[in-house]
Amino acid sequence: MILRPFTNFWRLTARQESGGLATMPPEQKAEIRAAQIHAVIALTPPMIIANLVNAAIVVLLFWSEANRTFLSLWGLTVLPMLGLWWRKWRSERLTPARVRASLRGVRRVTLNAALLGAVWALPLMFMFGNSGESRRIVLAAITTGMICGGAISLATVWQAALLYSLAIGTPGALVLLATGDPVYLGLAALTVSFAFLVGRTVCDRSDSFAHGFLANRNLREQGHVISLLLREFEDSASDWLWQIDQRGKFIHVSNRMAALLDVRPEDLAGKTPIDLLTLDAGRSADEDVPVAEAFRARFSRRAPFRDLLFPVSVRGQRRWWSVTANPVFDTEGKFAGFRGVGSDVTEARLAEASLEKMAIFDGLTGLPNRQHFHRRLGDALAGRRRNDAQFAVLSLDLDRFKYVNDTLGHPVGDRLLRLVGERVKGCLRNGDLAARFGGDEFVVLQAASSREESAALARRVVSRLSAPYEIDGQCVLIGASVGIALAPDHGDDADELVRNSDLALYQAKAEGKGDFRFFSEEINARMQSRRVLEIELREALRLRQFSLRFQPLVDARTGVVTTCEALVRWEHPERGLVPPGEFIPVAEETGLVVAIGEWVLDNACAEAAAWPRGVRVAVNLSTIQFQTGQVVEVVAGALARTGLPASRLELEITETVLLANSEETLKILDRLRALGVRISLDDFGTGYSSLSYLSSFRFDKIKIDKSFVRDVARRPDAAAIIRAITGLATALGMCTTAEGVESVEELEWLREQGCRELQGYLISRPLPAADARLLLGAGRALPGARD
Ligand code: C2E
Ligand code: MG
Ligand code: MG
Repeated sequence: MILRPFTNFWRLTARQESGGLATMPPEQKAEIRAAQIHAVIALTPPMIIANLVNAAIVVLLFWSEANRTFLSLWGLTVLPMLGLWWRKWRSERLTPARVRASLRGVRRVTLNAALLGAVWALPLMFMFGNSGESRRIVLAAITTGMICGGAISLATVWQAALLYSLAIGTPGALVLLATGDPVYLGLAALTVSFAFLVGRTVCDRSDSFAHGFLANRNLREQGHVISLLLREFEDSASDWLWQIDQRGKFIHVSNRMAALLDVRPEDLAGKTPIDLLTLDAGRSADEDVPVAEAFRARFSRRAPFRDLLFPVSVRGQRRWWSVTANPVFDTEGKFAGFRGVGSDVTEARLAEASLEKMAIFDGLTGLPNRQHFHRRLGDALAGRRRNDAQFAVLSLDLDRFKYVNDTLGHPVGDRLLRLVGERVKGCLRNGDLAARFGGDEFVVLQAASSREESAALARRVVSRLSAPYEIDGQCVLIGASVGIALAPDHGDDADELVRNSDLALYQAKAEGKGDFRFFSEEINARMQSRRVLEIELREALRLRQFSLRFQPLVDARTGVVTTCEALVRWEHPERGLVPPGEFIPVAEETGLVVAIGEWVLDNACAEAAAWPRGVRVAVNLSTIQFQTGQVVEVVAGALARTGLPASRLELEITETVLLANSEETLKILDRLRALGVRISLDDFGTGYSSLSYLSSFRFDKIKIDKSFVRDVARRPDAAAIIRAITGLATALGMCTTAEGVESVEELEWLREQGCRELQGYLISRPLPAADARLLLGAGRALPGARD
């Protein structure tokens, strides 16, 4: 019963401990308890000294007047009490401080404090009544001092401080009350109110201690986390930290940053970021200057900056750093420098630069590409309008490039294009620009003040590009054609100029290649009429405006017609009979030749079906027909429809058919041969005239082009070539036909060289179908007939 308030208080210590922080997790409470106890124990030495001094004063002061036995016993009680505190202090010093403490630990401290308080209440209780006035005052002062000092030193464990104060203050107040003296009654009231004040202050102090502890602990934890993160950041990330002071000198650089600069961190002490620009190179490059200025401006304005690009020189190599930083101010708000992060963005910058380069340069030759050329052409046009300057656009095309690419392979083709790019560049003067538009298309923008200047450049280009190239030990020969458009004469707009130089190029190629042409109104008109031709050709196909002529091929010895070649004609309503040389190229470009070719094949086979059995029909096939992949089916279809035996059909192809994807072409030729048709190589000697074609496919017939036949009399080498071809063809079991035989001399000579068949105006011109039928029906030999 008597103990109830005490036990209640005891429970209260457990419930309301830590000054209202009861809701926190138990381990945190335990940490606070340990800190509270630790704070109390830490004050043990001054507390023991104060206790000893005060105890000594009490003993000495009252030794003459008070009961000496009591004094001695009291003095002896104080000592072991202090001994307990001392032991506790020592053990805390020797062993690492405990991180957590139980409630029992708090209670133990509280009990010790209460006992000490009780011991200090004894002198007042037993000596106050018998003492004189002056000693009473000293005793009261010492007791008050002990309450005050003890409570303060125990303040972090509020329960201990409160119980200690109560243990001294309660009996003290009772003793004062017992005197009945109004002065001491007042003193008692003072003591109680003082004890209350101490208790209240102690509770607050304990509370703020707990909060302070928690705040510190959180701070420590945050600091720990931050330093962990920073360490990880510095160790693993590609970025780094740096700091400069108010003078701009490095006061912190991470190891990573120093390593990237290939120096030790201490080597950077006293250096500024500007020094990094020149750290290794010795002197700053031009691009450093704006960076240095940008940095200085921000530094002096104390303005934060983001992703400032620093060109840093490391071992003579330029690296790019992206630097971000904020100004730092000290606690008094004074500027203390900048702190920031940096990262090496060299690779990204290089990639960006190469992307930029790729966007305007051709990857193969390194020349500007079409987009860049058009930009420069636009600039040139704008400049021309301002100062009336002239310039020229030259379109270049390589002759036989496709052949090199197809026969020697793409790597050789690529090397050749690179060499061509270099040669074209070598022909230019300052201010001119060469670009590659793709494939073998090159274009030059020339700052030319006259037509002659452009002609001279075109001549230089044609001659330089036609000189032999040496690639992988092989000698490669190509030619070049050039078309020129002048600004402003041939156009005042970028597209128009390029188009007109292309038209001029087209004309140069059409007129025999290896030369140059200026754009002209005539060319333009020709191109226009070409466009008209294309429209009309579509119409002609729809209206069936085509017809066939048949030109006989005779046996060179007997003069008997062996074959008739079907030659297409366009019966134009206004222009009359249009020869194939005028419309077949357009039909090939537009793809109309496929439909025209089918019509020819059908009609030629149908016509031939009516001829004597021994006479074959020859039909010309265009390369474009081969590219459709349907040619075998088309031929088989025509034979099936007309009933002409396959053995009476001869297909004439030119070397260009063999150029394009020869593997594929050879397969098609084999399939055609499998149908039973014969295959002739037409116009041999005009194209690339490679004898290797003769071994790649066993043709049934080789037709020597009429241009050779014409040259026979004048050029001994033409005669030698014809002899070589006939010799080779005979050896390979192929028949040779000479085209374009126009004179008896030619006929005699060709016959002598072993040509087995002859074709030409001397024998017969191409005949309308009815005439051909009559001729064949008569069955007579045509030794030198003229139609
Ligand atoms: P090609 O296949 O070499 O036909 C021979 C050409 O030479 C014919 O011209 C013929 O008239 C001409 N010719 C014949 N003998 C002589 C001669 O003694 N002197 C001269 N100067 N010329 C002679 P054409 O009919 O104008 O045909 C030209 C070319 O057009 C043909 O050359 C052939 O490549 C092409 N062609 C003709 N018809 C067709 C066809 O139906 N389809 C295809 N794809 N091409 C055709
Ligand atoms: Mg032919
Ligand atoms: Mg021919």
